[in-house]
Formats: sequence, C-alpha cells, structure tokens
Amino acid sequence: GFKCGIVGLPNVGKSTIFNAITSAGAESANYPFCTIEPNVGVVSVPDPRLDVLADIVQPQRVLPTTIEFVDIAGLVRGASQGEGLGNQFLGHIRQVDAIANIVRCFDDDNVVHVDGSVDPMRDIEVIQTELNLADLDTVEKRLFRIQKQAKSGDKDMLAQQEVLLRVREVLDAGKPARSAGLSYEDQRLISDLHLITAKPVLYVANVAEDDLEGEHPHVARVREYAAEEGAEVVAICGKIESEIAELEGDEKQEFLQELGLGSSGLDRMIQAGYQLLGLITYFTAGVQEVRAWTVHKGDRAPQAAGVIHTDFEKGFIRAEVIAYDDFVACRGESGAKEKGLLRLEGKDYVVQDGDVMHFRFNV
Ligand code: GDP
Repeated sequence: GFKCGIVGLPNVGKSTIFNAITSAGAESANYPFCTIEPNVGVVSVPDPRLDVLADIVQPQRVLPTTIEFVDIAGLVRGASQGEGLGNQFLGHIRQVDAIANIVRCFDDDNVVHVDGSVDPMRDIEVIQTELNLADLDTVEKRLFRIQKQAKSGDKDMLAQQEVLLRVREVLDAGKPARSAGLSYEDQRLISDLHLITAKPVLYVANVAEDDLEGEHPHVARVREYAAEEGAEVVAICGKIESEIAELEGDEKQEFLQELGLGSSGLDRMIQAGYQLLGLITYFTAGVQEVRAWTVHKGDRAPQAAGVIHTDFEKGFIRAEVIAYDDFVACRGESGAKEKGLLRLEGKDYVVQDGDVMHFRFNV
C-alpha cells in the first residue's frame, strides 16, 4: 500500500492527530516519546464519486480505496546523531512514500513545548536540519563506497557519482534533495538510498480550537514557507479532529456544519496526502461491488489490473474502459456501450483518474 509518515517534534499533537485518523483512541500523553513503535493506520480515501456509481449500479457493497498513515516517533533535535530514538526513527522514515510534517501552531500553557515556546518556523528548521544531516550522511557514505569503481572508469558508478555530487551540493546548502531537480533517470540511479528529503512533504499546521476560522499568523508563515518549497499545507485542529472522529454519519455532518467546515481536517489531510503521492483512482463497478482502486499517475492498464491481483497483470489481455463522466451520463455500462463509449484498451493504455475498468485476462 501507499504510505504517508507522520513526523513532528514531541508535543505538537502527532499522536492526537494519528489517533483521530485511526479512531484508535489510544492514550496521548503530555510528554516526549510516548509513541515508541511506529503505529500504522489504514484509512479510507473519501471519494464522492463512489456514491454516484453505487446509485447507478446498486451493488451489494461499496469499497473505498485506502492509504496508510504511519506515526513515526522520535524526531528531536539531534536525531540524525542518534539522539532520542535517532536510528530507529531514521529507519522508519526511509520506508514511507511521503511525509506529513505536523507543526504546532496552537498556544497552550498546559502543554510544554520542547524548546520552551511555540514557533512553527523554528520547528520546521529543526526538522529540516535533522533530515538534511541524515541524508548528507547517507550520500557521503555512498560516495565513499563507490569512489574506487568510479575512478577506474565504471560507467554506472560514474553516473551515480555525478548525481550524488549534485545532491550533496543541494544538501550542503541546507535544501532538501527534492529541490535538486533530478530527472526520472537520475532519481532511479540513487533510489535505493531512500533519501528522506527527496520525499514529498505536506505541512500540517495544528491550530488552536478558536483559530480554525481565519488565518493565524503562525499558519500564514508556514504557508509562505511551503509555497517557496512547492509543498502543501493543511490547517487542522487535532483536538477537534479527535472529537469529530468519535462521531458518525449525520451527527458528524451536523457538528462540521456547526463549526462552519465542509469536511473534516482529516479528510482534507487524506486527500492532500493522496495528491502528494501522485496517486489517482480507477473504479470497478459490478453488481457485487463498486470499488475504488489506487494507482500512480502514469501507470498502464496491466499495472492497474495488478493492483487487484498479480494474476490479472501476468495474464492481461485487454481492458474495457469507460470514462467516469461517460459512465454517469449514460447511467451505466450498457448505456455507455450503446453510445460507443466503452473502449477496448491494450497494455500500453495509460489509466486516467476516474476510469471505470473491467479487465480481460488469461489464467
Ligand atoms: P505528540 O507528542 O506530538 O504525539 O503530541 P500529543 O498528540 O501527545 O499531544 C501533546 C499534548 O498536546 C496533549 O496533551 C494533547 O492533548 C495536546 N494537544 C494536541 N493537539 C492539540 C490542539 O489542537 N489544541 C490543544 N489545545 N492541545 C492539543
């Protein structure tokens, strides 16, 4: 599955937000390191198109697609040098596809800040520095390891060395590896390093209960900073999210309306995470079930089939595809077929967001 790691300094509201995400309701305590093992929560990706499809097809069940959030504890000043849960932390964060960086924007005298005061920009800088140092270390080690082969003219190693030197320059300047402007091929040459600062980042500003409306200066600064980086920002209130997470259906909608919110912060965070990962959704729509599936932007039909079952990919023959809008306008498959809007696509077909697909395959 696709994984988004949640990181942040201690006491910024990570556990509160993570618990709201999973509705696990586990204890969140007012001291550092209260979450030791990485917790994984699988959440549904809200998608109103599923209801529209279900209304047409009337299936027995409807299944949304999912994304994994991993609560990664242990990010403190000095983590790259082994402080706190340093090594464990770095190991876990290398495994995720994207990073949700929680920054504290709520003032609360009852909740200690590790650095004594609330200052999201300083927090972001601490985090950046730690992740940067960790990557720098990784890059230096690899450069050292391949230097002999590169010197003796090994073509692959020379190419890798060239990319690493460019990345090192960016890291040395205090910037994330993702800002090095590496081509797809360059990225592949060093993908086994799992550089942390090469991963896409979402800033989650955890604001106070009464700061959800309007924009607190803390949040405005985070937005400004993120814009420069090309990163996304979502402002949510961890405390309210954990209350929302306890509610269901109509109760939830009423509470959101009272707060003047269209959707919960978590839903916005999930959707932003989904976009951040470069993910799109295709659907299968049968009488048994209407279901959403996740693929990467650019994935081809066999890979999309492989998400359902590896045999579907191996034995792929072709896909029957109806664009979402056509499916809805024609009120289903037979209507779309009559209008000639059901397409037969081969193995080179690039899946489009919202495609309603049916696969033909050999067993
Ligand atoms: P973590 O160390 O980053 O996982 O932080 P926690 O989620 O354990 O939160 C630390 C403390 O801050 C707890 O006492 C939470 O109740 C409190 N907290 C979390 N989010 C909010 C919020 O949005 N507003 C306020 N006032 N307190 C919060």
